[in-house]
Amino acid sequence: MAEDFQDKNRELHAEIERLKQRISELETDKNLPSASKMEQQVDVTPIDQADVTLRRLVQRIAMILQAEKIVIMFHDREMGDLKGIPPAFGVDEIHLNAFKVRATHGVSGKVFREGDPIIYQDIEKLEEAREEPFGLMHVKNGVCVPLIIERRDEENRVVEKSTIGVLHAFNKKHNEEFNDEDVRLLERMARNVGSIIANLQMYREIVEEKEELAQTFESLTAGLLLVSTDRRLLQINATARAIFQAPQDSLGKNVEDIVKDTAFLGAIEKSLDGAEPGKVETHLTIGGHERIYESQFASVLGQDGKGIGVVAILADVTEIRNIDRMKSSFVAMASHELRTPLTAIKGFSSTLLDGLDDELFDKADQREFLGIVVGECDRLRRLIDDLLNTSRIEAGESLKPNYTHVDIRTLLDKAQKVQQQATHKHIIKLDIQGELPALIVGDEDKMDQILTNLLNNAIKYSPNGGDIIIHAKAEGESLVIGVKDQGLGIPKDHLLKVFERFHRVNNEDNRKIYGTGLGLFLVKHLVENVHFGKIWAESELNKGSDFIFRIPSNINIEEAKRVTD
Ligand code: ADP
Repeated sequence: MAEDFQDKNRELHAEIERLKQRISELETDKNLPSASKMEQQVDVTPIDQADVTLRRLVQRIAMILQAEKIVIMFHDREMGDLKGIPPAFGVDEIHLNAFKVRATHGVSGKVFREGDPIIYQDIEKLEEAREEPFGLMHVKNGVCVPLIIERRDEENRVVEKSTIGVLHAFNKKHNEEFNDEDVRLLERMARNVGSIIANLQMYREIVEEKEELAQTFESLTAGLLLVSTDRRLLQINATARAIFQAPQDSLGKNVEDIVKDTAFLGAIEKSLDGAEPGKVETHLTIGGHERIYESQFASVLGQDGKGIGVVAILADVTEIRNIDRMKSSFVAMASHELRTPLTAIKGFSSTLLDGLDDELFDKADQREFLGIVVGECDRLRRLIDDLLNTSRIEAGESLKPNYTHVDIRTLLDKAQKVQQQATHKHIIKLDIQGELPALIVGDEDKMDQILTNLLNNAIKYSPNGGDIIIHAKAEGESLVIGVKDQGLGIPKDHLLKVFERFHRVNNEDNRKIYGTGLGLFLVKHLVENVHFGKIWAESELNKGSDFIFRIPSNINIEEAKRVTD
């Protein structure tokens, strides 16, 4: 018996020696730095190896302590739990997931809260253990130490210390008991485990942040491109890919393989050279439409102040440029529109004046000349009214309506007759389907303005003549009226835009026809805001257009006044 005991004792000593040997081996092993070395080194553990390092470390703890099982418990601050997280040793995933306890309870909770290790030789005798599912692990004895992370200053002084969980070693092998040496060892290892976990945690947060950022970049409406100093694409978002028709896997490729615009590439070069490239305008045809992008460039510097690359942001300025273009063509048009009637007025009145003394012109001539002068004055007034009304609408004012009961049939007749007098090339017809209501509520003048404008356009944009049909029908509580011509027609992509202010279809035929691009803008306002209706255009190029509006026929006058007041 005594011999047996001595044998056993010798064996144990040999085992301890072996272990000590192994520890010193491990401490000099580059792959697994010593506990003290590691505290500083975990910070530089390549993050993609941190998982592997941690798993290896857990295995080695098991080996050094001769423990059957090792479990790391992490404190979930949101839930207030301590729970088993991988990697573990000698415990499968299911058991690990089930191993958790409130941070206020159990052996783990006590170690976590108080920061002191616990060593126990018989779990049955440990009161706190009853609050924790140790039965799951078939625990007999064990050691539990806090998982602490420390932040140190340059002089290696601990400036911050926090406990993030606990580390358990269960069931010493060979029916032995854990001792103080094991506690000391486990405490040292726990600091390394803590650092690696903290590192991993930080890494995961950074990855999440990076993903969030990437997603924000991806969904930006502006195009975004990041080019490295060696001209590779580090980042290109969906808008930029669409602009440059770049494939999904453009990252890492040379920017010149993706972007063909020389001005854009030139600006990137300039920016990489540290120069200020200014703004660059890129014209591209996307889906058959010309789009204009304005790009701005900025160098991106790393923390060390060295250049990492260039970021380019592309903003779609097509609409802004269009408005600019429209405004300048409007100025040209408006001056022409103002000058034409003035020239006629001046010409005819001076002619009349010159002939006054010598009685050069008879009454018929005088009537004709004065008629032209009056007509041109009306044209001038209309133009000035259009300009004033547009600026009123732009200032957010409505054009003051004067609601009455309007005899729509008579109004349509009058419009047809007046406009027919203005053209010989066209035949203007009235096509009324079914019965129209005898009276509708509306502003008679403004309704007349709508019809006059649409008829004027129908005449203007059918330079080769043809039929112009004013069609009208009652549809339930509404009235649908349209003006249909056989003229130039409107390209599909302009059908909505012609109602925008200053918008004119800019093609060969239209350019010869003068206008300000304000008529339909005002018509739309009169239909929608004064008469609570809707207007739209249907058209086929070179066949003709139909401008149709639908207005309610029985609006309540008082209600309408209240809305438009
Ligand atoms: P303007 O006639 O002074 O240019 P409008 O606002 O009345 O301004 O019309 C805007 C544009 O819509 C016109 O420049 C023209 O290109 C197009 N348009 C309007 N009416 C017609 C029509 N009946 N047929 C063809 N194009 C039209």
